[in-house]
Parts: sequence; C-alpha cells; structure tokens
Amino acid sequence: MTADFDVISPYLGLRGRWVPAALHNHTVGSDSDPVPPARAAELARQAGIEVLGLTDHDRRLPELPWTERDWAAAQRVTGILVVRGHEATYPRLGDTREHVNCLAVLPDEVGVPPGVPGFPQAVGQAGGVAWLNHPGLWNCRPEQVLDTPAFDGLIGLEVYSGARLLLEGRTGTRGTLAVSLWDALLTARRRSWALASADCHAWEPGLPDWVANGQTVLNLETVDQPSVLDCLRRGIFYATTGPRIEVLEVTHRTYRVAAPWASEIRFLGAGGELLLAREGPEATYRFTGAERYVRAEVISRERVHADQPLVRHTAWLQPAFIHPRS
Ligand SMILES: [Zn+2]
Repeated sequence: MTADFDVISPYLGLRGRWVPAALHNHTVGSDSDPVPPARAAELARQAGIEVLGLTDHDRRLPELPWTERDWAAAQRVTGILVVRGHEATYPRLGDTREHVNCLAVLPDEVGVPPGVPGFPQAVGQAGGVAWLNHPGLWNCRPEQVLDTPAFDGLIGLEVYSGARLLLEGRTGTRGTLAVSLWDALLTARRRSWALASADCHAWEPGLPDWVANGQTVLNLETVDQPSVLDCLRRGIFYATTGPRIEVLEVTHRTYRVAAPWASEIRFLGAGGELLLAREGPEATYRFTGAERYVRAEVISRERVHADQPLVRHTAWLQPAFIHPRS
C-alpha cells in the first residue's frame, strides 16, 4: 500500500557529521570585561564548540574596542570557525523589545531597519540568516509573533536561552524555553526551526550563559561559512542543552532517533500533543498521515551542567511536516 501523504523534513538523506555550534554570543557584557574575539574563540574551542557566532548588540557595536585585526585574529584560531554577526533590536512590541540574531551580516549591510517588514529578507539578501532570540515571553501569546510582519522570513527561534535561565535565577523572569511558542508556529504551518543558544555575555564556566550551555548542532559535510548558513536555512540541525543524537533517520514512513544516555524519547504533534513516548535511548515513530507535523524531543536526566536546575536536559529535533495528497 502506498502512503497517501508526503513527508517533508530537513533530515531526509543526511550526509554530514554533527558539528556543535554556539551561534549567539557577545564580546561585551553589561557587567563584565570585554572578551577579545580571539579569546572568545579559544574559550569556545576548549568547550568543544566548532562554530562560534559572535553577535554583539547593534546598539553597542560602535563602542566595541575591536579592530579588523582583532577579528582576523579570531578567524585564525585553529579548530573553530568564527562567524561575525549582530543582534538586531526591534522596536518595543507589547511589553518587551524583541531581539533578532543576524548571523554573517553587520547592520550597515542590511538595507531595511530592524522591526520593519522585510528585515529578515534583507538579512538574507545580504548573505546572512536571522532568527528570533529568547522569545519565551510569547509562549502564551503566539499571535504577537504570528501577526507581526517583521518576523516573517526568520528561519526560526531559540527554543532555549542560557541567558534567560540566568535571568530566571536572578530575577524570576520567565522565558528560558519557547517550546510552546514554537508549537504554535508549527501548528500554524509556519516553517520555523528550533535553535538553542547560550547568549553568552560573561564567559565564565559554570554560569548558565556559558558558551557551551545551549548548542545548535549542525549536520555539515564541510565546516565553512557558506555551508553553515545553508545548513541553518534548510533546518539540518538540532538544538540541545546536553543530549547528543547518534541516529537520526526520517523516511517517508518513519522518524527514528537514537541517543546514548537518553532516558526518554518523545514525539509530539500539532499543539504540542504527545504522540508517543518511549523510555530508553532509541525510538521510532510511524507516521499515520493524520499529523500536521511530528517533532521529537530527547530527554536526558544526567547532570550535564551543575548550574541548570530549572530545566531537564533536552534535545529538540526539527519537525517533519505531513502533507496529505489531495
Ligand atoms: Zn544576546
């Protein structure tokens, strides 16, 4: 019997290896000393990161002390690819300012101001990619994201933010996780990929925003900037606070995941509905054709970082979209 539905997934026919990336980080924090780009690259490399995005706030770029020579020094650190970018500040929306991470472009290269419809597309035309940073405040109001044209064209959102976890600990502000928002976007058939970021400001191991706490793991055949950007646009990655994926196979019938040390693997569908949960390091979901999308979460209960008491260690895998044939 042939299936009467199509499956569209970024994981169909994976060919690369999994490369840990930290794509949203700052060289200048508000209450810490500036960290030169080459020092940031060295610290990230020691933490196991192979691709490092340095994305200082657009409003702070003019005060950065770095010269082109400093940036070139960062790019010469071996064993890690450094990608420059910036964090764009959107005008106030409701009770918060939204930040959009812009990788591989600087503000004067984008022809549209932040917050104006067409900004994400302009980032793309300038050769970069853009996604929504730490949007957990919108979990209960996804319409704020869905109905704002200036967010159309983003590749996705941070479902996990190390810096927000730090804020939760200090001020009780919520917003570390944006998984409910992500499900709302996917349920509305918005193509949106999940990323995880440290949003590192302080460069202190042990803090929740340490560069390695919250990673986007890219499937790459070649580690260079064009391949990283292509991988991000196409969604060929997963987000994680710890668990590593060993097997990830999506076919037109099944979604199979294996992860050493995983205590549970869950498959979720429209609205975040739990479709299947399996204990242990391996699970396979068989599509019925009635799902709108199916995504997977891998949960590990091992203590990866001593400073992360508020969240389980989770890997968020991208959705497979199910399209009935008419
Ligand atoms: Zn940031």
